[in-house]
Amino acid sequence: MDTRVAKKKLGLKDRYAAMTRGLDWETTYQPRDKVFPQDQYEGIKIHDWDQWQDPFRLTMDAYWKYQGEKEKKLYAVIEAFAQNNGQLGISDARYVNALKLFIQGVTPLEYYAHRGFAHVGRQFGGAGVRVACQMQAVDELRHYQTETHALSHYNKHFNGLHSPHHWFDNVWYLSVPKSFVEDAFSSGPFEFLTAISFSFEYVLTNLLFVPFMSGAAHNGDMSTVTFGFSAQSDESRHMTLGIECIKFMLEQDPANVPILQRWIDKWFWRGYRLLTLVAMMQDYMLPKRVMSWKEAWEMYAEQNGGALFKDLARYGIREPKGWKDACEGKDHISHQAWATFYQYSHAAAFHTWTPSAGEMQWLAEKYPDTFDTYYRARFEHWAKLHQGHDRWFNQALPMLCQVCQVPMFFTEPGDAGQIAFRESSHHGMKFHCCSDHCKEILDNEPVKYAQAWLPVHQIYQGACYPPDVNPASPGDSPVREVLRYYGITGGEDNGDFADSPDRRHFAAWHGQPTPPAAGSTP
Ligand code: FE
Ligand code: ZN
Repeated sequence: MDTRVAKKKLGLKDRYAAMTRGLDWETTYQPRDKVFPQDQYEGIKIHDWDQWQDPFRLTMDAYWKYQGEKEKKLYAVIEAFAQNNGQLGISDARYVNALKLFIQGVTPLEYYAHRGFAHVGRQFGGAGVRVACQMQAVDELRHYQTETHALSHYNKHFNGLHSPHHWFDNVWYLSVPKSFVEDAFSSGPFEFLTAISFSFEYVLTNLLFVPFMSGAAHNGDMSTVTFGFSAQSDESRHMTLGIECIKFMLEQDPANVPILQRWIDKWFWRGYRLLTLVAMMQDYMLPKRVMSWKEAWEMYAEQNGGALFKDLARYGIREPKGWKDACEGKDHISHQAWATFYQYSHAAAFHTWTPSAGEMQWLAEKYPDTFDTYYRARFEHWAKLHQGHDRWFNQALPMLCQVCQVPMFFTEPGDAGQIAFRESSHHGMKFHCCSDHCKEILDNEPVKYAQAWLPVHQIYQGACYPPDVNPASPGDSPVREVLRYYGITGGEDNGDFADSPDRRHFAAWHGQPTPPAAGSTP
């Protein structure tokens, strides 16, 4: 009789290794460099791919099971929210404008991140990083879908939510997120990881998700909150991947350090400029506020980021070049951005308004050094004009930064009375930037940024008109035609909140009298 041999059970680590390693193969009939043509041309040197430590030990079967359970819970909440007309329970119809900005400017980024990780996952010579990229690609696709589903309910009841994809590809302010993610997408695979996994996911993601999700909680939007929870566990994996990939590259070869430093400088600044939209949302678009942009910056960037760059100093990495200017900007950027959107609300797919007296009081308390000194008078002036039925809309198109594509409204570090402006010449052409850091990005890669699709230039070149436009027809209006090309419905999707159907409908649903058309907001 044979003795029964007890089958040795593998430990978690060995089991994981058995299921994820050694599944790839060595190339035979083609040289390896031809199979992975992109993993060397950026200059990053990798000597041993096996040194890659997977940040989350998750096999594919566990991944599907885990995500599937989260999905069931999320859709149960979304369903209940719709059944119970959850849109009636939000704080104020102004809140929905934060969701409009989210689905127009953030959700498409998830889809791009999905494509980006699927693409770079193919480009790396190491199997560990390929698996991590594959999982993140699936996560991002899921984020895109769950956000779209969670917000689709609002599209039945509010304007400004019907064409986010067309808007992302065409509308002026959405070229800020679009150019950011396309810049990452069109770089090499290691720069993509530095841009998205490290600079965005690890350093800055809390500044994007926390304001939107806690803003949702404070304003009665349980369906968005649940989406936030569902995505949060993915985000922590993504952040771990971000720090792992940066440490892996730094440890592989000292020659990688200066390349990574330049990417960190670049992508910190690009991410920071992109977050201007979040800063504005947080300080001006939430009827019930959570914390100011300045407080969020101090908590998530200055405290966490400070510790991070101290930790990376042992590899020879210093804090990003734009760090100090970004910290100074915390007092200014939300006000400057909202003041700009306020003026261009006729060309955007969401509403703007002047803050109420109480809200200005809150802003003055949160920004004691800047709000009353630099920004209050502007809003009071516009509110007065609006009360006199002369709502101010700026008809001149602004100059845009060649790199971040934000209109040139940022001010000089140390002098908030002076618009910052930088100029560079390349290939016999002049280019304009909003800051030293955007200029440095341009000067490092002028061939790339010379091709930037700048919305204002495109409008002036006639590239943003519908095909049947006839400038010779009587009463032709260039702005009206651009809006028609954008698919923005004038008087519904755009303009001042006080005059919007969103506001009238919300009042009517609550059995309240129709509020006066122009003048003060609640
Ligand atoms: Fe995501
Ligand atoms: Zn810029």
